[in-house]
Amino acid sequence: MLDDIPQEEYLLKGNTACAGCGAMLALRYILKAAGQNTIIVNPACCSTVCQGTYPKTAYGVPVLNIAFAAAAAAADGIASARRNKGKNIIVFAGDGGTVDIGIQALSGAIERNANILYICYDNEAYSNTGMQKSGSTPYGAITTTTPTGRKDSKKDIDLIIMAHRPKYMASASAAYPKDLYEKVRKALTIEGTKFIHVLCPCPSGWRYSTEKTVELGRLAVRCGMWFLYEYEDGKVKLNAPTKAALKRPAPLADYVRPQGRFKGVNLERLQKEVDEEMDRIRALAGIENAKEASE
Ligand code: SF4
Repeated sequence: MLDDIPQEEYLLKGNTACAGCGAMLALRYILKAAGQNTIIVNPACCSTVCQGTYPKTAYGVPVLNIAFAAAAAAADGIASARRNKGKNIIVFAGDGGTVDIGIQALSGAIERNANILYICYDNEAYSNTGMQKSGSTPYGAITTTTPTGRKDSKKDIDLIIMAHRPKYMASASAAYPKDLYEKVRKALTIEGTKFIHVLCPCPSGWRYSTEKTVELGRLAVRCGMWFLYEYEDGKVKLNAPTKAALKRPAPLADYVRPQGRFKGVNLERLQKEVDEEMDRIRALAGIENAKEASE
């Protein structure tokens, strides 16, 4: 399945990520898809720290580390510089730097149709600074600022981005690397602003044992906590794992149980949210019912 993915590695050994980090797994395949001719823009987030320290940085492409709020604007500036024509300019930003602090610069960049690929790696908390709640933290999740579990719901950044009508957007998961690789390859062929939202399980923040990153990433899709789709020409197209999940979802408890952050969660309320989200994604994709989703 992964045979046609390049052997070259641009995320080098010795980076300082936690064992089992979903964000680094995602970045590895994103860089394989983008190749050497790439500049990464990192706002403050785990992926800034994971580079290590000069002169032994672990990213095999140039990186601009920039303030939280400025990533999309800085990337637009780089993309507009004459000498960078033809280069892949990719923002790799966490959920805090995207759905909260970086949202205005991202909104402006899409409005200007900046020729950048903006990737939000979503580990559903401010993991780098101590696991505080972000706008992307799901209902019920324990963080250091929601010690009894988040009481309200995750902000829907995808609908916000969709309202800007970007050229291309997609959701992906670190646990489906081929799908992520292909979406990045496709996005980089399109002129203008592209947005990819990648779920990246985080063993430290989600409190599960490190070898379960891929298993939990897949379960998130199978139980409907995360959807895989593409948005192009104003239309939402669901990808196969999400179509299967809409038809026959895995039990939500299988996803929740291994994660310490969901200790004491009201599973019934969380299930209600999942069911509502499933209805919403069906409506976006123009699908009336579960049977149609499987066709
Ligand atoms: S805190 Fe989470 S996202 Fe950050 S490096 Fe560790 S595993 Fe990765």
